[in-house]
Amino acid sequence: MALLEVKGLKKSFGDLHVLKGIDLSMEKGDVISIIGPSGSGKTTFLRCLEMLEMADEGSYHLNDMDVTFPNVDKKDILKLRRECGFVFQNYNLFANKTALENITEGLVYGHKQDKARSKEIALELLDKVGLIQFADYYPRQLSGGQQQRVGIARAMAANPTVIFFDEPTSALDPELIGEVLAVMRQMANEGMTMIIVTHEMSFAKEISSQVIFMENGYVVEQGTPDALFNHPTQERTQQFLSRYMQK
Ligand code: ADP
Ligand code: MG
Repeated sequence: MALLEVKGLKKSFGDLHVLKGIDLSMEKGDVISIIGPSGSGKTTFLRCLEMLEMADEGSYHLNDMDVTFPNVDKKDILKLRRECGFVFQNYNLFANKTALENITEGLVYGHKQDKARSKEIALELLDKVGLIQFADYYPRQLSGGQQQRVGIARAMAANPTVIFFDEPTSALDPELIGEVLAVMRQMANEGMTMIIVTHEMSFAKEISSQVIFMENGYVVEQGTPDALFNHPTQERTQQFLSRYMQK
């Protein structure tokens, strides 16, 4: 059985059908990138995987958890959220907490980790993302790239099974994108299981085991980076890529 498997995932907001039956399957260590035009449901899909939104239909398997939406009990939601890290487009750090505290917060309160051990873990992670000397800085004292690296360290803190990234570099000035991608590249090389929504095509091409092109609530095409970027079979994928590459 796959590490993570979703079948027939659907989600509507009122009359708006955003996800129309998404299937996805991945093994430990896979890196899946999701590309597609704005409004196609990419963020909603990740939020459903993290159970920040509750899907309407479909099945979800992760590790030893199996649920069928929308019949999910509170216990499964908490367990799932503990197992999955999430990196937000706009970092979502607590403004009144330091870089260190942003990481320890979830460990102490969400995972009942003792304070000393939480601090140790947070410092290790800050070191890993190159920010050990910024442990006591507040988000406003950090650049966007640094804030996002704290966001990534926070997502890694609980030793998650998988991390979801929602356009982690799209709020950044171009010169700050590289430092965030470098951290993500290292995580991928170390075997972290990741799903990444991104517009960084060459990065997706380089680090992904599979790439998904999503549009209008459907997976239009899925394949290896070479297949999807160099030999797309669907006309919609070709159109999207050619328009994208022209920009
Ligand atoms: P993407 O990330 O691909 O740009 P989203 O998942 O953010 O797409 O949005 C897909 C569609 O769902 C959009 O039309 C958006 O307006 C709508 N949508 C997203 N979240 C909500 C919500 N909480 N309530 C109502 N509509 C939403
Ligand atoms: Mg989005």
